[in-house]
Amino acid sequence: MPELPEVETVRRGLVPVLQGTILIDVQTFREDLRYPFPLFFAEQLKGQTVETLERRAKYLLLHLSGSQTLIIHLGMSGRLRIDSTHDFIKQKHDHVIFRTSRHQTIAYNDARRFGLMDLIPTQNWHDYIHFKKLGPEPFDQEFTFEVFHKSLQKHQQPIKVALLDQRLIVGVGNIYASESLWGSKIHPNRSANTLTPKETELLLINIREVLNRAIKAGGSTLRDHQQPDGKLGYFQHQFAVYSRYLEPCLREGCQGHIRKFAQAGRSTYYCEACQK
Ligand SMILES: [Zn+2]
Repeated sequence: MPELPEVETVRRGLVPVLQGTILIDVQTFREDLRYPFPLFFAEQLKGQTVETLERRAKYLLLHLSGSQTLIIHLGMSGRLRIDSTHDFIKQKHDHVIFRTSRHQTIAYNDARRFGLMDLIPTQNWHDYIHFKKLGPEPFDQEFTFEVFHKSLQKHQQPIKVALLDQRLIVGVGNIYASESLWGSKIHPNRSANTLTPKETELLLINIREVLNRAIKAGGSTLRDHQQPDGKLGYFQHQFAVYSRYLEPCLREGCQGHIRKFAQAGRSTYYCEACQK
């Protein structure tokens, strides 16, 4: 499933292709993805210029010239494929095709169809139904460690479980939660409300660093493949704990090994020695 870094990578890959371009033609090849497409979806999009591309959690927002915003969520298996050739060939599971004034084709491919596309007034995009329960963005400057610490105080569940709660902070997926806790030397089973301000500050720094590293790795993958592929995958070689069960801890001077256990149905990896 694409996580925040993958979606951000897709957004950055789409900016040079879509920003300032006109959607000359839009075609849908079925009635719905996870939900039905809006009424007259393709017709409404045609002729609009893509002005800016933004991201909220794992949603892509394409702000259009007609004061509308196209919302795209990649779901479990959604991918956007850019085709710059003049002989675009539709592939199996291509459900939406956009043609731009720069003669490029962008195909939305989604085998499992858990993705979503919607069209809403730009003015009210913050109030979009799927955004109502979303917490702060990890990179938001207003989301300081003080704010983070205050909200963690209200939660008794293990910090690893709290990090996956999208109402507390968005975009910290299972892998990135384990990684940032290792970076902060915090045990994943600690109650969220026991973190000190200092630990919370370190944790927020590590969350940003882990996500930034993944976005950067995605960027280089993108350059190699020249397409914003939602299936870029995770950047396995960079993981400190995730999927490294029983391997030695990578922290300098630490003699511990990586352990794992299940928390809220997800695998948590941590170092037995240096995370307290
Ligand atoms: Zn360790």
